[in-house]
Amino acid sequence: MRSLWSALRWGGLNSVIGSALVIVGLLAGLSPLALSREQGEALQNEQDLKAYPSYESLYSDLRALQQKYRGIMQIVVIGHSHGDDGDVNRTADNRDIIAVKISDRVYLENDGMPQEEPDILFIGGQHSREWIAVEVPFLLIKYLVENYGKDRKIRDLVDHSEIWIIPLDNPDGYEFSRNDDRLWRKNRRNNGDGSFGVDLNRNFPYELGIDWSAPLPPGSLTSLSPDSELYRGPSALSEPESQAIQAFVASHHFQTAINFHSYGQTILYPWGISGADAQDETLFENISTKMAQLIQGAHGPVYRPSKSFNSEDSSGGAYLKHGELSDWLYGQGVLAFTVELSPKTYAEGGFELPADKIQSTFQGFLPAALYLIQAGMERLPKTPASGVTRTLDEALDLNGNHYLDDNELLLLVDYWISSEVVPGTGQIVDDDKFFYYVDKWTSKKRLTPEQSPQAAVALMLDRTRITYQKSGLRLEVVGAGIAEIDFQLFNLAGQRLMRRLEPGSALEFSAFDEAGSRLANGVYLYRVIAYGARGDAIQSQVRKFIILK
Ligand SMILES: [Zn+2]
Repeated sequence: MRSLWSALRWGGLNSVIGSALVIVGLLAGLSPLALSREQGEALQNEQDLKAYPSYESLYSDLRALQQKYRGIMQIVVIGHSHGDDGDVNRTADNRDIIAVKISDRVYLENDGMPQEEPDILFIGGQHSREWIAVEVPFLLIKYLVENYGKDRKIRDLVDHSEIWIIPLDNPDGYEFSRNDDRLWRKNRRNNGDGSFGVDLNRNFPYELGIDWSAPLPPGSLTSLSPDSELYRGPSALSEPESQAIQAFVASHHFQTAINFHSYGQTILYPWGISGADAQDETLFENISTKMAQLIQGAHGPVYRPSKSFNSEDSSGGAYLKHGELSDWLYGQGVLAFTVELSPKTYAEGGFELPADKIQSTFQGFLPAALYLIQAGMERLPKTPASGVTRTLDEALDLNGNHYLDDNELLLLVDYWISSEVVPGTGQIVDDDKFFYYVDKWTSKKRLTPEQSPQAAVALMLDRTRITYQKSGLRLEVVGAGIAEIDFQLFNLAGQRLMRRLEPGSALEFSAFDEAGSRLANGVYLYRVIAYGARGDAIQSQVRKFIILK
């Protein structure tokens, strides 16, 4: 125990020394007082360009996450961008539009079971200059996969839904905004009249399909002029970025969705096209109000829930919007919200949210994003299980209600397929290293939580023990009421080498770390979290064991 703590302390001290050196370096290099306004802005731009990832680095960050969390995260290319017609040195014709799926048994639709899991959708980056609206969905992906093994609430959300996140719908415009024109909004189609781009959030056809060239009513925040920022395109779904979403949505059954934009701190819902009440007006109102409350409850900023068109709104809401994605999604049956992220005002940065506000903007909105997943799960009524096939989650549901019937055998198949997507091509290359395992669980009686032998016994963790066997190492957790254990192995520097979450109170493991290297002789540290049948948990002390071969 002491070794771990001192290792951590030393690690911490090193990074403190590191940042002190950086600060000293900065002070020596330049005096902040000597910066002109232009220099200040240039410095700000430089910091923003570093903090907000390029398309390429976003893609590679996602691939790295998928590599690490491939059991619960899958990258899918759902289409390609139009390509930047204005780029004379064009290196790639178009760019991949990436969707990320997060779910347990991620390579199987609905876990490979007949019951449907609710699909949830997050989309970002329709508008090029709204960089925070790319970063927030990216950080949401990261948060979900990194906390899956640590936070039971996250695990419940991920296990019982299929979360899809498209962080960047308009990669061409985004890159153009980074490299050429910071305030670019549209995609990069050449309109043929010297102007470029279609406003992707005006390109959707709901209630517009009949005559796309018909005049719009006065007061519409949508335009027929190609050189307008709000140009809706030559026809409905004319843009490949919109078609990708259309096809993707058609092949899923989404319950709830957020379309991320900035700025304004609002949570908007249909109908933007007319201002009429949606059929689900009350539900929209309840969910958006709850999201705003959760954000404020977590000490986040004030978000205002509102109908997308609101004639009493003095800050831009009092305009009709024709062709918005959220209206179209709602037309497809999805409860869809347009979220205008921070900041609230132009004075606070407008579309150019400073890099040092990224984390707080994400953290502030996070409870609302998690609630949207929850709301999607609640919207899809749970159908009773049919036949004898049940998922592991149901069999061991830590809320306690589902146990297998007598003589039922649960067959669990997990596919862990490692696949790589070649950037710019959308081609998927399987590395052939896919493997699967099948587990059989002996049956248990179907019992109420009160009758369940595990739930009847209060959770207790007495001691843990690692023993050596011919086949490998065996961890036993001695106690009472233990339904599941979380085993974590560290080296003396406090780095985690292995983590296993398994039902029951014992597990076997071999002397290899997660990267596949054999553990060298030496001293290791481990700890165990025991979960009871109702999700309560006890953590063991950090313990030592020695490998000597
Ligand atoms: Zn926008």
